[in-house]
Amino acid sequence: MSETTPHERTNLLGLTRSGLEAFVVAMGEKPFRARQLYKWIYKRAVGDFDAMTDLRKDFRCRLAEVAELRTPEILGTQVSADGTRKWVLRFEGGQAIEVVFIPEPGRGTLCISSQVGCQMDCGFCATGAQGFNRNLSTAEIVGQVWLANRELGYSPDGDRVITNVVFMGMGEPLANYRNVVPAAEIMMDDLGLDLSRRRVTISTSGLVPQMYRIADETNVALAVSLHAPNDELRSEIVPINRRHPIKDLLEACWHYVEKQNARGVTFAYVMLDGYNDRPEHARELVQILHGHPAKVNLIPFNPFPGTRFQRSSDAAVERFRDILIKGGVMATIRRTRGDDIDAACGQLAGRVNDRVMNRLRDKRFPTEEVRA
Ligand code: SAH
Ligand code: SF4
Repeated sequence: MSETTPHERTNLLGLTRSGLEAFVVAMGEKPFRARQLYKWIYKRAVGDFDAMTDLRKDFRCRLAEVAELRTPEILGTQVSADGTRKWVLRFEGGQAIEVVFIPEPGRGTLCISSQVGCQMDCGFCATGAQGFNRNLSTAEIVGQVWLANRELGYSPDGDRVITNVVFMGMGEPLANYRNVVPAAEIMMDDLGLDLSRRRVTISTSGLVPQMYRIADETNVALAVSLHAPNDELRSEIVPINRRHPIKDLLEACWHYVEKQNARGVTFAYVMLDGYNDRPEHARELVQILHGHPAKVNLIPFNPFPGTRFQRSSDAAVERFRDILIKGGVMATIRRTRGDDIDAACGQLAGRVNDRVMNRLRDKRFPTEEVRA
């Protein structure tokens, strides 16, 4: 996989460690140079080859000719009263996305994007309503974390600021498999961003074939956007369910847990007033999840202009949670963060991309990625 055209320098942020080793060997260097480079880039957040003082001067000069660290451009930064931070980033080509950092006691979570827009067309999602623009490259995905690390004042000796990364911004990560999986590997590499394997989470709306594939190929935490307890409701708001219904989806989840020896799967369930938030829905959910390694995360819906849905009342959300817990299914309610800066996952970059979004909506589901 190449991150460049023949006229461009290679963006090192797109290379896994073995990819970088191959790159330096092709330059006539020893493979261990890749380890040194990785340390500079990820442990010290240094992007300027000239500052990498334990590399020979001539190697640094040649690197500067053929390689670079190209990050997205920061268009703006906002900090919420609760400490949540949001950056608007622009990629080459002009597309914009947002990255959100959520500090909590003992951890810091970065919410990143895998695509500009999304093809999946879920009925309650602002990203889905915008249509699809393009996949982000591995370098563009890693670049979001690298930039946030640098902006947050990451120091190799100090406490880690970003402890968790979630692919819960724009896009369906498993529809951009070939770029997302290497990006996750770079994040989990101990010489790279060195995040624990349980702390990089891929959230999917349910691309079943790709779920089987990640079970074989990588080792991340898995979150699944369920949002409804039966096929009739789910097919209406998550169209991919018509191709991969709940039964197949859950089988893929339990396979993943077994194969990966994972703790379990987190199921996101967005609470839509009068639609999927009734007690009978909670009881149906208990029936399908009871006895399995599942945790349900109830998410207050974030309304956006033009949506037909409304947020469920706090009372309805709590009642729903109580039924799940009584039925033996672990459940939590997601606190909303950064409300004052519109930093909720699932509605990122809504406004920015109104201006830059290619409005051609491609409704085909991205199954060809399975073979990529
Ligand atoms: N495409 C992936 C990951 C990005 S969406 C997925 O669907 O899982 C990240 C999360 O935000 C998902 O759980 C999604 O269901 C949720 N989400 C989308 N729109 C939302 C909204 N308007 N309010 C609350 N959550 C939303
Ligand atoms: Fe895409 Fe996820 Fe939004 Fe569905 S919820 S449209 S999969 S970003």
